[in-house]
Amino acid sequence: MESRWKQSAEFLERAKRTLAAGVSSSFRAQARPLPLYFRSGRGCWLEDVDGNRYIDYALAWGPAFLGHSHPAVLDAGRGALECGQPFGAQHEREFRGTEKVCSIVPCAEQVLFASSGTEAVQAALRLARAFTGREKIVKFEGHYHGWDDDILVSHHPSADAAGSLEEPTPVLATAGQPSGCARHLLILPWNRLDLVERLFAERGKDIAAVIMEPINFNSGSTLPLAGYLEGVRRITKQHGAVLIFDEVITGFRVALGGAQEVFGVAPDIAVFAKALGSVFPVSAVAGREEVFEPINSGRTMHAGTLNGNPVVLAAVEATLDYLLANRDEVYPRLNRLAGILRSAIRDAAKISGVPVLEQGYGPAFSVFFRPSREIQHYRDTLCADHALYERFLIEMLKRGVYLLPDARWYLSAAHGGGEIDQTCEHILPALRAAAN
Ligand code: PMP
Repeated sequence: MESRWKQSAEFLERAKRTLAAGVSSSFRAQARPLPLYFRSGRGCWLEDVDGNRYIDYALAWGPAFLGHSHPAVLDAGRGALECGQPFGAQHEREFRGTEKVCSIVPCAEQVLFASSGTEAVQAALRLARAFTGREKIVKFEGHYHGWDDDILVSHHPSADAAGSLEEPTPVLATAGQPSGCARHLLILPWNRLDLVERLFAERGKDIAAVIMEPINFNSGSTLPLAGYLEGVRRITKQHGAVLIFDEVITGFRVALGGAQEVFGVAPDIAVFAKALGSVFPVSAVAGREEVFEPINSGRTMHAGTLNGNPVVLAAVEATLDYLLANRDEVYPRLNRLAGILRSAIRDAAKISGVPVLEQGYGPAFSVFFRPSREIQHYRDTLCADHALYERFLIEMLKRGVYLLPDARWYLSAAHGGGEIDQTCEHILPALRAAAN
């Protein structure tokens, strides 16, 4: 390993002896040239254990939307801890948090809390099934909804395993999933309204819910085609199925009210995590009061020892207060800065003779080198040169820019023009080095 990452390489070797796989989430093992060890994060800057500093576009895979170690969030969390928390009982930050979420998120009339996006998705699916009395869930290829056995299906299947585009084969994502766990899922490619229409015509009375990322950030930051979200909203309503938006990435990020605010389409239920608590482990399910009936009446169970604890809810309150107070400045600035980065990537690609496609919304976008077609759903993402992106990522890392392995870029409220300019300067040399 290059000497600039010597300490990280040594730590990784040591960790592997006792920490399974050496990392605490399988996704982190994808980091190239190796999973780095960090000792501090401030604003949009990270410092690794070898003393290298980076401008960070990973944001801890998304949650650090206000930047690392945001003082208001840290103070709030610290204050809550000093009260001797958590209690495993009620406290007023719970309803102050839910009132704020309801004032911000268009579909939110009621809210419940959990600790991770995965758990919140599980709660949303259970609610939808209890509410409708049906079992089938429509899930789209390339959409990620956490690592629970019953939904981790057709996440990123190989082209060979995925079968026909119009009737995809459900593909389990990992060894250890029970073979029957996809039996309640109906898999479709995203952005094909005709196929949703056809499926509901055939199976509508069995379908409890359609779940989707309203912008498919987990597969190339792909946007919904014009009319698609409205169409799915119309069809689900017609057939009495619940529409679930997984806003774990989009929530509070693409706009304060999430993708449902951007597109003006309100789901019945939306799931939030990541930006909601600025890196504190918290997630939420929000939706129409009617859909929460199974929980309100006690028919449906939702639990978790640390759910809604005061420490994470202090972080939620501080995060939402900050965004409410600064929304008019933060979102337009991030849109503008992301635009500068995206155009620098396009320019560098043109100069280096590397075809590029970059897409996304607001402060998050993805980059594809040498794509052979437009990207409208997961299978299209397989057409890009991922090896080239990986070499580019390593070249950027050497120049002090930290990127996610899946080609997604995240900006935080702490990114300023100076950091963006500094990043732009590195893009062309890094791409040239990677492409040669
Ligand atoms: N849904 C989406 C859209 C996600 O991107 C993620 C995590 N990347 C999850 C759910 C799962 O969230 P968590 O990792 O907090 O369980």
